[in-house]
Amino acid sequence: MTNPAAFKLPALSLREWSGPLTAELVRRPAAFGLGQVPVGQLPDGVSRGVCGFCSTGCGLLFHQQQGVAVNVTPDPTYPVNLGMACPKGWEGLTPLSATDRGTTPLLDGKPVSWHAAMTHFTQNFQAIQAKHGKASVAFISTGQMMCEDMGLLGAVAKFGMGMIHGDGNTRQCMATSVTAYKQAFGFDAPPFTYADFEASDVIVFIGGNPCIAHPIMWQRVMQNRNQPEIIVVDPRKTETAMAATQHLPLRPKSDLTLLYTLANLLIDAGATDPDFITQHTNNYDAFREFVQDFTLEQCLAETGLTADAIQRLVKTIAQGKAVSFWWTMGVNQGHQATYTAQAIINLALLTGNIGRPGTGANSITGQCNAMGSRLFSNTTNLIGGHDFLNPAHREKVAQALDIPVEVIPQENSWAYDQIIQGIHDGAIKGLWIIATNGAHSWINQQHFRDAMAKLEYLVVQDMYPTTETAQLAHLYLPAAGWGEKEGTFINSERRIGLSRKVRVAPGQALSDFNIFRLVASYYGCGTLFENWTSPEAAFRMLQKCSAEQPCDITGIEGYDMLESQGGVQWPCTEPTPAQERRLFADGKFFTPDQRANFRYATPETAPEAPNAEYPLTFLTGRGSSAQWHTGSRTNKSTVLRKLHVAELIVEMHASDALALGLQDGALAEVSTVRGRLEATVRVAPTVAPGCIFMAMHDSRVNLLTPSVFDPQSRQPSYKYAAARVRKISASADGISVTRNRIDRDPVCS
Ligand code: SF4
Repeated sequence: MTNPAAFKLPALSLREWSGPLTAELVRRPAAFGLGQVPVGQLPDGVSRGVCGFCSTGCGLLFHQQQGVAVNVTPDPTYPVNLGMACPKGWEGLTPLSATDRGTTPLLDGKPVSWHAAMTHFTQNFQAIQAKHGKASVAFISTGQMMCEDMGLLGAVAKFGMGMIHGDGNTRQCMATSVTAYKQAFGFDAPPFTYADFEASDVIVFIGGNPCIAHPIMWQRVMQNRNQPEIIVVDPRKTETAMAATQHLPLRPKSDLTLLYTLANLLIDAGATDPDFITQHTNNYDAFREFVQDFTLEQCLAETGLTADAIQRLVKTIAQGKAVSFWWTMGVNQGHQATYTAQAIINLALLTGNIGRPGTGANSITGQCNAMGSRLFSNTTNLIGGHDFLNPAHREKVAQALDIPVEVIPQENSWAYDQIIQGIHDGAIKGLWIIATNGAHSWINQQHFRDAMAKLEYLVVQDMYPTTETAQLAHLYLPAAGWGEKEGTFINSERRIGLSRKVRVAPGQALSDFNIFRLVASYYGCGTLFENWTSPEAAFRMLQKCSAEQPCDITGIEGYDMLESQGGVQWPCTEPTPAQERRLFADGKFFTPDQRANFRYATPETAPEAPNAEYPLTFLTGRGSSAQWHTGSRTNKSTVLRKLHVAELIVEMHASDALALGLQDGALAEVSTVRGRLEATVRVAPTVAPGCIFMAMHDSRVNLLTPSVFDPQSRQPSYKYAAARVRKISASADGISVTRNRIDRDPVCS
C-alpha cells in the first residue's frame, strides 16, 4: 500500500469502530483514537472507489446497506485526497437516483426493447455506410467513461464498424496540453505528482482557478509547509487569485507575450540552468534570440500589468528553489493555445524546474478520465498512445488485441470541430454521441445544433434522455452511470484508480461496456471482440497495448493491485509497491534524442477583438465547485443546487455597469454577433473594466461563443469573444423582461 508517512495519512481503523460512520470520523479518525487499518480489511458494508467527476481522482468510501451504496465519504487512506472531498464527491450518488434516469431505449421518444433499438441502430448506420461510405458515420465520446469503456468503444467503432472519425469531448479541455507535451517531451506526459503541490516554494497558476475547479488540489497547496509564493496569472480576480501572494491581472489573451517576456527577463537575470539546457534540451539558442524582442516596455503595453508586478514575479521565479508551473483552461482554450502551453514548458526548461520534487510544467486535466481518453480511447491516438499512421504501431496493437491488422484505419481521425463541419459539408451523415452533451457544451451552439439537424441519424447514449443532446436524438440508449459499473480512471497525475460497481442501474439501463458489446454483436463484428469479456479482461488488453510505451502499465497485477495500492501512476512496468512516479528525474525525455524541445511563435491578435459595436471582452469559465460542466448530473442534487445561484449571471466591473446605467441585480441583454440572451448583472471587482464573465454551466452561454480553434490542437477558444451588454427595457426589440431562471430553453433570438 501507499506509504502513509509520505502523505502524512491519519490513522484509521474502521474495523474496531462500532459507532456511526460519520463524515467527521472519516475525516479526523485520529481524534477518535483510531489506529491504522491495512488496506483491504475494511469492514463489511464499506468499499472503495474513485470519484467520477473531475480529474483530481479522489478516493471515496461507499457505505453499503444490503450490498447497495447509500452514502459516500472521502477515503482517508487514498494518496490523492487524504480524506478530503469537494461537494460533488460527497453528492456523487445522488444523480444516480434522479427521476429522469433513462430506463429503456427510446426510439423517437417512445420506449422500445434493446433488440428493437440495436436493430434500428444497425440498420440505419449500415444503410448510411452502404450509401455514403464507411467514414460517413462518426462518434463523439467523453472523458467521463472508464478506460475499458473507451478502449472497447474505439475498437468497435473503428475496427468493427469501419468508422474513421471519432473524437472525445476531451478535445474541449485537454487537446492543447496533449499537443504541447508531444511536441516538447515526445509524448503526452504530464510530469508531476500531487506531492509537488506540497514540495514547491513557488507555485505559479496560469489560467487556472483550482479553488473551485480543482478544490482538493488546492487543499494540497494549502498543506504546503514551505510558505510558498502562490502566483496567479489570470485576467480575473478569481477565488484563487484572492488567496495568492501575487496576482497578475493581465489583459485577456496577452499571456503569450507575458510568458515570452518572463523568459527574456529570466535569461537577462542569469536565472537559467545552463547545465540542464545544454544536456537535456534542443533549440535553446534560437529561443533565446527570439525572446530578446519581448521587452518589459512592450509587455507593459500589451498586458496592462505594472513593471513592479512583472519584475517581482521574475525575481520570485529566479530565487525559487522548486518552482512549479500549473495551467488549465485559461491557457488551453485560446486561439494560440498550444504555443502558450509550450511557452510555460519553456520557462520550466530554461530554469531547470522539471524532474525534481516541487517543480514541473504541469497541465491539470479536467474530467475524471481525460488522461484515459488521451491514451486509450482510440480517437486521435491509436490505443496505447500509438499512431494510426505508423505500420509498426498498427501491427503491435493488432497483436495485443488479437485482431487482423487490416481492420485498423491507416489514417487519422478528424477532430471534434472537423466532424461537426463534416456534417455541415455532407461528409458525415450519421453520428453516435456517448456520454457528452454537445448541445450545451460545444462552442457556437447554433452551429452545433444546425449540424445535428442535418444528420440522417443521431444516436445518443447517456444516463439521461433529458439532456439537451439526447432530446435531439432519433435513438436514445440508456446507460449505467458511475457507481453502477466497474473500470479504471486515470487522473491528472497519471494515477490509475479503480471505480467499483456499488449500485444497480435502473430499469434496462446497461453499462457502456455492455452496450458496446451489444453493438458489436448486432453489427456482425462480435467475433473481433470476443476477448473483451469483462472490464478487467479489457484492462489486460489495454495493458498489452501500452507495453514499451512511456505509459507502460504492464506491471499492474490487476484490479486488486490498483485497489490495494491506492491507485498506480504510469509508467508501471513492475508490480512494485506504490511510490511517486514523477517523470524526467533523469533528464531524459521521450523524443528520439531524449531532449526536450523549445518551441515558440509570434503572438497573434485574437480573431474576434472587441470593436465599436461589441466593445467588451467576453470570458467564460467555471461557476462554482458544486457545478460540473453542463450540470446533467450536478443539477440533480438539491444540495449542490443550493451552492450556486439559480440565475444566469453576467459579472461586470462597476465602471462598465455605471456607464451602461446598470445596477447590481438588473436584467441585461448580453450579445455577441452570434446571438443574445438575458442575464442578471452582478457588479463585481473580479472582472476588469472592459471585460464580462459568465459561467459555462447554463445551456445558453455557448450561444455567444465563437467558432475559433487553436490551429494545432483544434481545441475551442471559449475564453475570448467581443460582446455587448445593454439595459433591458420594454422596448421595440421585443425582449421580454422575465425572471431569469436556468432552464433548457434558449432565449437567444
Ligand atoms: Fe470528485 Fe474532483 Fe471533487 Fe475530488 S475534487 S471529490 S475528484 S469532483
